[in-house]
Amino acid sequence: MVAKDKFISFMERLIWITHAEPFIHEDYVELVEEICEEYHLTKGDTEFYRTPMMERRGIGEVFCDFDNGKSECVLLRIRVIASSKAVIIGTLYCTKKESDRGEEELTQLETMLRVILGFVSRKRLIRTLEEFGFSDMDGYANFRAFARYLDIKNAENKLGGKVAFHIDLHNFTMVNQEIGRENGDVVLKKYFNMIKDAIDDTGIVTRLGGDKFVGIFDRKVKRSVYEIFSGVPVSFGELDDKKIMVAAAAGIFMLPNPYMLKGYGDIMDKIMMASSTAKREASGSIVVYDDKMKKSKEHMKKVQNEYRAALEKEEFKVYYQPKVDIENNLIVGAEALCRWVQDNRIIPPDDFIPVLEMNTDICDLDFYMLEHVCQDIRRWLDEGRYVVRISVNFSRKHLVSVDFLDHILNIVDKYEVPHEYIEVELTETTTDVLFSDLKRVVCGLQEQGICTAVDDFGVGYSSLNLIRDIPWNVLKIDKSIVPKNVEENESISNKMFKHVISLAHDIGLECVIEGVETLDQLEVLRENGCNIAQGYFFDRPIKLIDFESRLEQKTYE
Ligand code: C2E
Ligand code: MG
Ligand code: MG
Repeated sequence: MVAKDKFISFMERLIWITHAEPFIHEDYVELVEEICEEYHLTKGDTEFYRTPMMERRGIGEVFCDFDNGKSECVLLRIRVIASSKAVIIGTLYCTKKESDRGEEELTQLETMLRVILGFVSRKRLIRTLEEFGFSDMDGYANFRAFARYLDIKNAENKLGGKVAFHIDLHNFTMVNQEIGRENGDVVLKKYFNMIKDAIDDTGIVTRLGGDKFVGIFDRKVKRSVYEIFSGVPVSFGELDDKKIMVAAAAGIFMLPNPYMLKGYGDIMDKIMMASSTAKREASGSIVVYDDKMKKSKEHMKKVQNEYRAALEKEEFKVYYQPKVDIENNLIVGAEALCRWVQDNRIIPPDDFIPVLEMNTDICDLDFYMLEHVCQDIRRWLDEGRYVVRISVNFSRKHLVSVDFLDHILNIVDKYEVPHEYIEVELTETTTDVLFSDLKRVVCGLQEQGICTAVDDFGVGYSSLNLIRDIPWNVLKIDKSIVPKNVEENESISNKMFKHVISLAHDIGLECVIEGVETLDQLEVLRENGCNIAQGYFFDRPIKLIDFESRLEQKTYE
């Protein structure tokens, strides 16, 4: 029998320790041990279940702070249900010999055990609240967990040198369609856990929502994390016997060392920017942020913001680059190339066309170019000048539009330009859908007597189907496959060049060689029987007024 004053002192300490801020676990364990020894207990444990249902299913947690391994029977067991519906159970054990206790002693033990159960319930409740705050409905750690991790590591000055990432799973909507939403969820969780395991305790991975995740890890695990980003098979199905490849578009930011975080945006902006670049590339792409990316995003915004007004103000100018028959140096055509002239500064197309191609902005520019070309041709005709066929570049973005053809004809006919003076340059496409659109457009133009040219042939994956199945008039051979000189004769690219030219001639295609810069190259063209060249050797793309004087001369000396 324990003396009353001893019991009161235990109670005071128990209340004190379980309410202390911060809670010191060692003090608590020490006190529990003392109590157990004083009351001849062999073990004391508590169980916590979030709901009675989870208790029935046995899903919960057990905490044991004292166990001397000599338990033979249960002395006291108390089960309470908290207002949050959580179930907390406390059990005290002893030896058989010690199992007969007086009522007062049992009351003392019960009082202390209830204090402990109250404490466990409070502590767990706080943890549960935290779990809700730092995880989403599906149990993934959320952005708040990421932010908290950054704050903690930043305070410890341990962020420097780490690797932050944002990933967007590649085509996950399609994965869901293919294997069903439920399996999709399983795959998503498994993929997430793979990343989590690879990161281990060097960082954290959290979900932003949907199939987008952010996180951070140490450079030492970079290789294994990157492998998962690049693409791994993930199993699903009842027997885990089916597999699907999952890959991500990853944006990475390597934190410098040392690194001081000022706001989450410092990291978020960079990883998002890099991952949107990665998204435009092949599946499994990993793009590391660099400061050029920020500049290019600013540039992109600037182009998009200023484009409409520039179009209205007619800041875009047509430059003409002559096409020359190398037999007699006669100008036989020209390509219209766009230049953006802003405050006397000439911006080349590579600086703005890719931006305009991100949406359909490019289409208006192409029609604008055609319109200006038609105006020029009309004037040349009216003035009785020597006139040649002018080719205009059209982006692939037009192909899906059903009135693309009508739009071209409307412009050409508005200026009453005979169709044979217009040539439409289109680049090859890689997808089947666009291939049939391309065919439809080319055939339509052909019927109207407007010439069509495949631009940049030889760049990328030029397919022979492209020239077999579509009735082009002109093949524009890209500068990258033109040999530098005749000596290079035996090289593969030279042979390829030779055969492409003879194939094109065999099927009746006119060939224009782009990017001819030297006399040596001209020699290569002559050797291979190509007769039309376009390039710096004759002229760069030149202003209207200069082109008009070239037309006046008709030939190059
Ligand atoms: P592209 O249609 O293949 O035009 C040929 C490009 O090669 C032009 O670049 C031209 O200046 C360049 N070039 C010509 N001869 C030589 C040479 O001897 N050496 C070298 N190194 N380059 C030569 P540019 O004018 O910078 O145009 C680049 C691309 O921008 C064009 O390639 C075309 O794809 C696009 N582009 C230009 N204007 C328009 C337009 O109005 N609409 C559309 N959709 N695209 C356009
Ligand atoms: Mg072109
Ligand atoms: Mg080209």
